Amino acid sequence: MPRESNAAKAERVKQLIARFQETYPTAHCELEHSNPLELLVATILSAQCTDKRVNLVTRQLFNRYRTAADFAQAPISELEEAIKTTGFFRNKARNIQSCCQALVEKHAGRVPSSMAELTALDGVGRKTANVVLGNAFNINCGVVVDTHVARLASRLGLSPRRDPAKIEQDLMPLVPQDQWTLFSHWLIWHGRRRCYARNPGCLHCEVRPLCPRLGLKRLAPVTAS
Ligand code: SF4
Repeated sequence: MPRESNAAKAERVKQLIARFQETYPTAHCELEHSNPLELLVATILSAQCTDKRVNLVTRQLFNRYRTAADFAQAPISELEEAIKTTGFFRNKARNIQSCCQALVEKHAGRVPSSMAELTALDGVGRKTANVVLGNAFNINCGVVVDTHVARLASRLGLSPRRDPAKIEQDLMPLVPQDQWTLFSHWLIWHGRRRCYARNPGCLHCEVRPLCPRLGLKRLAPVTAS
């Protein structure tokens, strides 16, 4: 594929956005939550785990622990047991607990709404902070880059890079800021429903005319039967 100019790429992103909007008009964060604390905890739990599994766990977890102080004071073994099925549960329990201790000590038990304050919390990186800012506070501070966003950004020819922070830097100038959070939902939804890691459904893909399918084999020509 000849090198695409930035202007052409931005125009293609505009068209991609229109198609995604049409295809996934209700795209949203699939981690169930009813406040910023729940979303923060759910996002920490979602590392290396499906949203479906996290939701199963958090439905009970959030009944048991309702405030940052509840998480901060819980016996660690009890917390570990409650989140065990999400994997890496020892690390996650430690991170949730020390993160919530900091919320109690430095933020009066509330989740802060700035990138700097969020990423200063244990277990909270830029991706988690972007999820919380975008979905709990409606603040478009960056683009969430998870495994789906990274894969789609590459196949769609929007970023050739592998490092999530660099992919985010490539996406931000291409997408209008007020759509940064939605754009990552669209890529995540498309990654889960069409552009699978293995065997992507290119033949039926809603954005196929706009996709260079970088890194994938050519589609076999359709033969008359
Ligand atoms: S055409 Fe294929 S590679 Fe491109 S977005 Fe659609 S499913 Fe993914």
